[in-house]
Amino acid sequence: MDTASHRISNAALPAITLDLGFDNTNPRDPGAIQAEEDGTFVVRHFVEENCPEGYSFHFHVAVNNDGDKPETVPFRIRWSEPDFDFCHDYMYIGYDSGREWVMLSTPCVDSVTEMKLVVPPGRHLFCHHPKFDVGDYLALVDRMAATALFERVEVGESAEGHPVACLRCGNPNGRKTVITTRAHGYESAGAHCMDGWFRQAVSDPAAVEPVLAKLDLYFFHLLNVDAVAHGRCCFGPSGVNFGNELALRTDDDVGAKALTTFIFGLEPAFYLDMHNNTGPHLRDSFRVGDEKLLEAFWTVAADRSRDQKTWGGRYVASFSEGYMLRACQRRFNTLPMLTEFPWYTRRPQEMRAHGREFFNALLPLLADWPTGVEAVKER
Ligand SMILES: [Zn+2]
Repeated sequence: MDTASHRISNAALPAITLDLGFDNTNPRDPGAIQAEEDGTFVVRHFVEENCPEGYSFHFHVAVNNDGDKPETVPFRIRWSEPDFDFCHDYMYIGYDSGREWVMLSTPCVDSVTEMKLVVPPGRHLFCHHPKFDVGDYLALVDRMAATALFERVEVGESAEGHPVACLRCGNPNGRKTVITTRAHGYESAGAHCMDGWFRQAVSDPAAVEPVLAKLDLYFFHLLNVDAVAHGRCCFGPSGVNFGNELALRTDDDVGAKALTTFIFGLEPAFYLDMHNNTGPHLRDSFRVGDEKLLEAFWTVAADRSRDQKTWGGRYVASFSEGYMLRACQRRFNTLPMLTEFPWYTRRPQEMRAHGREFFNALLPLLADWPTGVEAVKER
Protein backbone atom coordinates (compact mmCIF):
# COMPACT_ATOMS: atom_id res chain seq x y z
CA MET A 1 0.00 0.00 0.00
CA ASP A 2 1.26 3.43 -0.94
CA THR A 3 1.25 5.49 2.23
CA ALA A 4 3.31 8.43 0.93
CA SER A 5 1.65 11.68 1.91
CA HIS A 6 2.35 15.36 1.40
CA ARG A 7 0.80 18.41 3.02
CA ILE A 8 0.71 21.78 1.22
CA SER A 9 0.23 24.89 3.36
CA ASN A 10 -1.19 28.27 2.36
CA ALA A 11 0.37 31.47 3.87
CA ALA A 12 -2.71 33.58 3.08
CA LEU A 13 -5.10 31.02 4.62
CA PRO A 14 -3.17 29.56 7.58
CA ALA A 15 -6.01 27.24 8.67
CA ILE A 16 -6.11 25.57 5.26
CA THR A 17 -3.87 22.75 3.98
CA LEU A 18 -4.08 20.30 1.08
CA ASP A 19 -3.09 16.63 1.41
CA LEU A 20 -2.03 14.44 -1.49
CA GLY A 21 0.06 11.36 -2.09
CA PHE A 22 -2.20 8.92 -0.25
CA ASP A 23 -4.36 6.12 -1.68
CA ASN A 24 -5.91 7.18 -5.02
CA THR A 25 -4.91 10.88 -5.01
CA ASN A 26 -4.30 12.87 -8.17
CA PRO A 27 -2.02 14.76 -8.41
CA ARG A 28 0.55 12.96 -6.23
CA ASP A 29 3.59 15.18 -6.80
CA PRO A 30 3.71 18.09 -4.28
CA GLY A 31 5.36 20.13 -7.06
CA ALA A 32 2.03 20.05 -8.89
CA ILE A 33 0.46 22.41 -6.30
CA GLN A 34 1.41 25.99 -5.39
CA ALA A 35 -0.34 28.39 -3.03
CA GLU A 36 -0.19 31.89 -4.52
CA GLU A 37 0.11 35.08 -2.45
CA ASP A 38 -3.63 35.75 -2.63
CA GLY A 39 -4.35 32.27 -1.28
CA THR A 40 -5.23 30.61 -4.62
CA PHE A 41 -4.19 26.97 -4.82
CA VAL A 42 -2.91 26.37 -8.34
CA VAL A 43 -3.17 22.64 -9.04
CA ARG A 44 -1.74 20.89 -12.08
CA HIS A 45 -3.78 17.76 -12.69
CA PHE A 46 -1.74 14.66 -13.58
CA VAL A 47 -2.31 12.33 -16.50
CA GLU A 48 -0.09 9.38 -17.26
CA GLU A 49 2.01 9.40 -20.42
CA ASN A 50 0.38 8.06 -23.57
CA CYS A 51 -3.07 8.14 -22.01
CA PRO A 52 -5.66 8.02 -24.79
CA GLU A 53 -7.42 11.32 -25.45
CA GLY A 54 -10.48 11.80 -23.33
CA TYR A 55 -9.26 9.76 -20.38
CA SER A 56 -7.74 12.36 -18.03
CA PHE A 57 -10.58 12.78 -15.61
CA HIS A 58 -9.36 11.70 -12.20
CA PHE A 59 -8.78 14.29 -9.48
CA HIS A 60 -8.61 13.65 -5.75
CA VAL A 61 -7.05 15.72 -2.95
CA ALA A 62 -7.99 16.28 0.69
CA VAL A 63 -8.69 19.80 1.95
CA ASN A 64 -8.16 20.44 5.67
CA ASN A 65 -9.59 23.36 7.62
CA ASP A 66 -8.01 23.32 11.08
CA GLY A 67 -9.88 26.49 12.13
CA ASP A 68 -13.27 26.78 13.80
CA LYS A 69 -15.11 28.59 11.01
CA PRO A 70 -15.65 28.03 7.26
CA GLU A 71 -13.02 29.38 4.87
CA THR A 72 -13.46 30.31 1.20
CA VAL A 73 -10.55 28.81 -0.73
CA PRO A 74 -9.76 29.86 -4.33
CA PHE A 75 -8.65 27.11 -6.72
CA ARG A 76 -7.19 27.21 -10.22
CA ILE A 77 -7.11 23.68 -11.60
CA ARG A 78 -5.16 23.15 -14.83
CA TRP A 79 -6.51 20.02 -16.50
CA SER A 80 -4.30 17.83 -18.66
CA GLU A 81 -7.09 17.24 -21.15
CA PRO A 82 -7.42 20.14 -23.61
CA ASP A 83 -10.54 19.04 -25.47
CA PHE A 84 -13.12 18.04 -22.89
CA ASP A 85 -13.89 21.14 -20.83
CA PHE A 86 -17.53 20.09 -20.44
CA CYS A 87 -16.39 17.02 -18.51
CA HIS A 88 -14.82 19.27 -15.86
CA ASP A 89 -17.81 21.55 -15.38
CA TYR A 90 -18.76 19.69 -12.22
CA MET A 91 -16.87 18.05 -9.35
CA TYR A 92 -17.68 16.62 -5.93
CA ILE A 93 -16.76 17.41 -2.35
CA GLY A 94 -16.90 14.60 0.19
CA TYR A 95 -17.43 16.20 3.58
CA ASP A 96 -15.90 14.56 6.65
CA SER A 97 -13.35 12.45 4.74
CA GLY A 98 -15.97 11.39 2.20
CA ARG A 99 -18.88 10.47 4.44
CA GLU A 100 -21.27 12.96 2.77
CA TRP A 101 -20.94 14.01 -0.90
CA VAL A 102 -22.24 17.07 -2.76
CA MET A 103 -21.91 17.89 -6.47
CA LEU A 104 -20.36 21.28 -7.24
CA SER A 105 -20.59 23.52 -10.30
CA THR A 106 -16.96 24.03 -11.44
CA PRO A 107 -17.03 25.71 -14.88
CA CYS A 108 -13.99 24.89 -17.02
CA VAL A 109 -12.72 27.18 -19.81
CA ASP A 110 -9.74 26.35 -22.01
CA SER A 111 -8.92 23.40 -19.74
CA VAL A 112 -8.74 25.59 -16.59
CA THR A 113 -11.27 25.56 -13.75
CA GLU A 114 -11.30 28.75 -11.63
CA MET A 115 -13.49 28.41 -8.56
CA LYS A 116 -13.93 29.14 -4.89
CA LEU A 117 -14.49 26.23 -2.54
CA VAL A 118 -16.24 26.87 0.78
CA VAL A 119 -14.50 24.58 3.27
CA PRO A 120 -16.11 23.87 6.65
CA PRO A 121 -13.88 22.98 9.61
CA GLY A 122 -12.55 19.42 9.30
CA ARG A 123 -11.06 17.20 6.56
CA HIS A 124 -12.88 16.91 3.24
CA LEU A 125 -12.18 15.19 -0.09
CA PHE A 126 -12.26 17.16 -3.33
CA CYS A 127 -12.75 14.80 -6.30
CA HIS A 128 -13.88 14.64 -9.87
CA HIS A 129 -16.19 11.74 -8.94
CA PRO A 130 -16.92 10.29 -5.49
CA LYS A 131 -13.88 8.12 -4.87
CA PHE A 132 -13.76 4.38 -4.29
CA ASP A 133 -10.16 3.68 -3.36
CA VAL A 134 -8.09 0.60 -2.53
CA GLY A 135 -9.01 0.92 1.16
CA ASP A 136 -12.72 1.03 0.26
CA TYR A 137 -12.28 -2.07 -1.90
CA LEU A 138 -10.52 -4.09 0.80
CA ALA A 139 -13.06 -2.98 3.43
CA LEU A 140 -16.01 -3.89 1.22
CA VAL A 141 -14.58 -7.30 0.36
CA ASP A 142 -13.94 -8.02 4.06
CA ARG A 143 -17.42 -6.79 5.05
CA MET A 144 -19.18 -8.90 2.44
CA ALA A 145 -17.00 -11.97 2.98
CA ALA A 146 -18.05 -11.91 6.64
CA THR A 147 -21.70 -12.49 5.63
CA ALA A 148 -23.29 -15.85 4.87
CA LEU A 149 -23.91 -14.91 1.23
CA PHE A 150 -20.44 -13.97 -0.02
CA GLU A 151 -17.03 -15.64 -0.23
CA ARG A 152 -13.72 -13.92 -0.90
CA VAL A 153 -11.76 -15.63 -3.67
CA GLU A 154 -8.05 -14.87 -4.04
CA VAL A 155 -7.05 -14.35 -7.65
CA GLY A 156 -3.46 -13.21 -7.23
CA GLU A 157 -1.43 -10.07 -6.71
CA SER A 158 -1.03 -6.92 -8.74
CA ALA A 159 2.35 -5.84 -10.13
CA GLU A 160 2.76 -3.64 -7.03
CA GLY A 161 1.70 -6.33 -4.57
CA HIS A 162 -1.91 -5.33 -3.89
CA PRO A 163 -4.27 -8.27 -3.40
CA VAL A 164 -6.43 -9.06 -6.42
CA ALA A 165 -9.55 -10.72 -5.10
CA CYS A 166 -13.19 -11.07 -6.04
CA LEU A 167 -16.44 -11.72 -4.21
CA ARG A 168 -18.33 -14.86 -5.12
CA CYS A 169 -21.96 -15.64 -4.37
CA GLY A 170 -24.72 -17.89 -5.63
CA ASN A 171 -24.90 -21.52 -6.69
CA PRO A 172 -21.49 -23.13 -7.42
CA ASN A 173 -23.25 -25.25 -10.04
CA GLY A 174 -25.01 -22.24 -11.56
CA ARG A 175 -23.99 -20.46 -14.74
CA LYS A 176 -20.84 -18.50 -14.18
CA THR A 177 -21.29 -14.75 -14.37
CA VAL A 178 -18.32 -12.36 -14.25
CA ILE A 179 -18.97 -8.71 -13.32
CA THR A 180 -15.98 -6.38 -13.50
CA THR A 181 -15.31 -2.68 -13.00
CA ARG A 182 -12.36 -0.23 -12.75
CA ALA A 183 -10.60 -1.40 -15.89
CA HIS A 184 -10.15 2.37 -16.03
CA GLY A 185 -8.83 3.52 -12.69
CA TYR A 186 -10.88 6.69 -12.31
CA GLU A 187 -14.30 5.17 -13.04
CA SER A 188 -15.80 4.58 -9.62
CA ALA A 189 -19.50 4.24 -10.63
CA GLY A 190 -19.55 0.45 -11.01
CA ALA A 191 -18.11 -0.23 -7.56
CA HIS A 192 -20.79 1.94 -5.92
CA CYS A 193 -23.46 0.16 -8.02
CA MET A 194 -22.23 -3.24 -6.82
CA ASP A 195 -22.21 -1.96 -3.24
CA GLY A 196 -25.88 -0.99 -3.57
CA TRP A 197 -26.89 -4.48 -4.69
CA PHE A 198 -24.72 -6.12 -2.01
CA ARG A 199 -26.39 -4.10 0.75
CA GLN A 200 -29.80 -5.24 -0.47
CA ALA A 201 -28.66 -8.86 -0.81
CA VAL A 202 -27.41 -8.91 2.77
CA SER A 203 -30.42 -7.10 4.27
CA ASP A 204 -33.04 -9.02 2.23
CA PRO A 205 -31.57 -12.36 1.09
CA ALA A 206 -35.01 -13.67 0.07
CA ALA A 207 -35.23 -11.00 -2.64
CA VAL A 208 -32.09 -12.26 -4.39
CA GLU A 209 -32.53 -15.99 -3.66
CA PRO A 210 -34.05 -16.81 -7.10
CA VAL A 211 -31.01 -15.24 -8.78
CA LEU A 212 -28.50 -16.90 -6.47
CA ALA A 213 -30.14 -20.29 -7.05
CA LYS A 214 -29.26 -20.18 -10.75
CA LEU A 215 -26.14 -18.05 -11.13
CA ASP A 216 -22.58 -18.39 -9.83
CA LEU A 217 -21.55 -14.72 -9.56
CA TYR A 218 -18.00 -13.29 -9.42
CA PHE A 219 -17.72 -9.56 -8.67
CA PHE A 220 -14.40 -7.78 -9.37
CA HIS A 221 -14.44 -4.23 -7.91
CA LEU A 222 -10.95 -3.11 -8.85
CA LEU A 223 -9.61 -4.78 -11.98
CA ASN A 224 -6.70 -2.35 -12.14
CA VAL A 225 -5.88 -1.93 -8.47
CA ASP A 226 -2.45 -0.36 -9.14
CA ALA A 227 -4.00 2.34 -11.35
CA VAL A 228 -6.53 3.13 -8.61
CA ALA A 229 -3.83 3.31 -5.92
CA HIS A 230 -1.85 5.75 -8.06
CA GLY A 231 -4.89 7.92 -8.88
CA ARG A 232 -4.48 7.18 -12.57
CA CYS A 233 -7.08 7.32 -15.29
CA CYS A 234 -6.29 4.52 -17.69
CA PHE A 235 -3.00 2.71 -17.15
CA GLY A 236 -1.43 1.14 -14.12
CA PRO A 237 2.28 1.78 -13.65
CA SER A 238 2.97 -1.24 -15.92
CA GLY A 239 1.50 0.70 -18.86
CA VAL A 240 -1.18 -1.89 -19.62
CA ASN A 241 -4.68 -0.55 -20.35
CA PHE A 242 -6.96 -2.97 -18.47
CA GLY A 243 -9.86 -1.91 -20.71
CA ASN A 244 -8.83 -2.70 -24.25
CA GLU A 245 -5.51 -4.50 -23.64
CA LEU A 246 -6.25 -6.81 -20.72
CA ALA A 247 -6.62 -9.89 -22.89
CA LEU A 248 -3.68 -8.97 -25.15
CA ARG A 249 -0.82 -7.94 -22.82
CA THR A 250 -0.90 -10.46 -20.00
CA ASP A 251 2.87 -10.93 -20.17
CA ASP A 252 3.41 -7.24 -19.29
CA ASP A 253 1.55 -7.16 -15.95
CA VAL A 254 1.32 -9.97 -13.38
CA GLY A 255 -2.06 -8.67 -12.17
CA ALA A 256 -3.45 -8.85 -15.71
CA LYS A 257 -2.03 -12.36 -16.01
CA ALA A 258 -3.68 -13.50 -12.78
CA LEU A 259 -7.02 -11.96 -13.74
CA THR A 260 -7.14 -13.38 -17.24
CA THR A 261 -6.00 -16.84 -16.11
CA PHE A 262 -8.69 -16.91 -13.42
CA ILE A 263 -11.50 -15.57 -15.63
CA PHE A 264 -10.67 -17.83 -18.57
CA GLY A 265 -10.67 -20.73 -16.11
CA LEU A 266 -14.29 -19.95 -15.25
CA GLU A 267 -15.44 -20.18 -18.90
CA PRO A 268 -18.20 -17.72 -18.00
CA ALA A 269 -21.66 -17.81 -19.53
CA PHE A 270 -22.09 -14.06 -18.94
CA TYR A 271 -19.62 -11.17 -18.69
CA LEU A 272 -20.63 -7.66 -17.63
CA ASP A 273 -17.98 -4.89 -17.65
CA MET A 274 -18.99 -1.64 -15.90
CA HIS A 275 -17.64 1.82 -16.78
CA ASN A 276 -18.32 5.50 -16.05
CA ASN A 277 -19.61 8.07 -18.44
CA THR A 278 -17.86 11.38 -17.78
CA GLY A 279 -19.27 14.78 -18.66
CA PRO A 280 -22.80 15.97 -17.91
CA HIS A 281 -24.44 12.95 -19.53
CA LEU A 282 -28.13 12.30 -18.98
CA ARG A 283 -28.11 8.70 -20.23
CA ASP A 284 -27.30 5.39 -18.63
CA SER A 285 -25.82 3.20 -21.33
CA PHE A 286 -26.31 -0.58 -21.57
CA ARG A 287 -24.72 -2.44 -24.49
CA VAL A 288 -25.16 -6.15 -25.03
CA GLY A 289 -24.24 -8.79 -27.57
CA ASP A 290 -27.76 -10.22 -27.77
CA GLU A 291 -30.63 -8.28 -29.34
CA LYS A 292 -33.32 -10.24 -27.55
CA LEU A 293 -31.72 -9.62 -24.17
CA LEU A 294 -31.55 -5.90 -24.99
CA GLU A 295 -35.29 -5.89 -25.76
CA ALA A 296 -36.07 -7.83 -22.60
CA PHE A 297 -33.95 -5.45 -20.52
CA TRP A 298 -35.80 -2.36 -21.76
CA THR A 299 -39.08 -3.82 -20.50
CA VAL A 300 -37.79 -4.17 -16.93
CA ALA A 301 -35.14 -1.40 -16.66
CA ALA A 302 -35.94 0.82 -13.70
CA ASP A 303 -36.99 4.41 -14.30
CA ARG A 304 -34.14 6.59 -13.01
CA SER A 305 -35.50 9.86 -14.39
CA ARG A 306 -35.39 11.35 -10.89
CA ASP A 307 -31.60 11.12 -11.30
CA GLN A 308 -32.07 13.15 -14.53
CA LYS A 309 -31.33 9.96 -16.49
CA THR A 310 -32.94 7.94 -19.27
CA TRP A 311 -31.74 4.62 -20.66
CA GLY A 312 -29.66 4.34 -23.80
CA GLY A 313 -27.59 1.54 -25.29
CA ARG A 314 -27.61 -0.86 -28.17
CA TYR A 315 -26.91 -4.29 -29.49
CA VAL A 316 -23.18 -4.77 -30.16
CA ALA A 317 -22.34 -7.68 -32.42
CA SER A 318 -18.62 -7.48 -31.69
CA PHE A 319 -16.90 -5.53 -28.91
CA SER A 320 -13.32 -4.33 -29.38
CA GLU A 321 -10.65 -7.00 -29.47
CA GLY A 322 -8.60 -6.88 -26.29
CA TYR A 323 -11.60 -6.48 -23.99
CA MET A 324 -11.86 -9.53 -21.75
CA LEU A 325 -15.56 -9.82 -22.53
CA ARG A 326 -14.67 -10.09 -26.23
CA ALA A 327 -11.92 -12.63 -25.54
CA CYS A 328 -14.40 -14.71 -23.50
CA GLN A 329 -17.00 -14.38 -26.26
CA ARG A 330 -14.48 -15.73 -28.77
CA ARG A 331 -13.37 -18.62 -26.56
CA PHE A 332 -16.57 -19.66 -24.80
CA ASN A 333 -19.43 -17.87 -26.60
CA THR A 334 -19.84 -15.83 -23.42
CA LEU A 335 -22.65 -13.28 -23.65
CA PRO A 336 -20.95 -9.84 -23.35
CA MET A 337 -22.48 -6.75 -21.71
CA LEU A 338 -21.04 -3.30 -20.99
CA THR A 339 -22.45 -0.36 -19.03
CA GLU A 340 -21.47 3.30 -18.83
CA PHE A 341 -23.18 5.05 -15.93
CA PRO A 342 -22.66 8.81 -15.44
CA TRP A 343 -22.13 10.36 -12.03
CA TYR A 344 -23.60 13.70 -13.08
CA THR A 345 -26.30 14.78 -10.53
CA ARG A 346 -25.70 11.61 -8.50
CA ARG A 347 -24.17 11.12 -5.10
CA PRO A 348 -23.02 7.69 -3.88
CA GLN A 349 -26.46 6.94 -2.42
CA GLU A 350 -28.10 7.59 -5.81
CA MET A 351 -25.47 5.47 -7.55
CA ARG A 352 -26.07 2.66 -5.04
CA ALA A 353 -29.84 2.88 -5.65
CA HIS A 354 -29.22 2.84 -9.40
CA GLY A 355 -26.96 -0.19 -9.11
CA ARG A 356 -29.47 -2.06 -6.95
CA GLU A 357 -32.25 -1.45 -9.49
CA PHE A 358 -30.00 -2.24 -12.46
CA PHE A 359 -28.93 -5.59 -11.02
CA ASN A 360 -32.51 -6.33 -9.90
CA ALA A 361 -33.60 -5.86 -13.52
CA LEU A 362 -30.72 -7.67 -15.25
CA LEU A 363 -29.81 -10.60 -13.02
CA PRO A 364 -33.28 -12.28 -13.02
CA LEU A 365 -33.19 -12.11 -16.83
CA LEU A 366 -29.77 -13.78 -16.88
CA ALA A 367 -30.89 -16.41 -14.38
CA ASP A 368 -33.44 -17.70 -16.90
CA TRP A 369 -31.67 -16.76 -20.14
CA PRO A 370 -30.77 -19.56 -22.53
CA THR A 371 -27.00 -19.91 -22.39
CA GLY A 372 -24.22 -22.29 -23.05
CA VAL A 373 -22.51 -22.55 -26.39
CA GLU A 374 -25.41 -24.27 -28.18
CA ALA A 375 -28.14 -22.05 -26.80
CA VAL A 376 -26.34 -18.82 -27.61
CA LYS A 377 -25.38 -20.02 -31.07
CA GLU A 378 -29.03 -20.77 -31.82
CA ARG A 379 -30.17 -17.25 -30.97
ZN1 LIG B 1 -14.00 3.01 -18.92
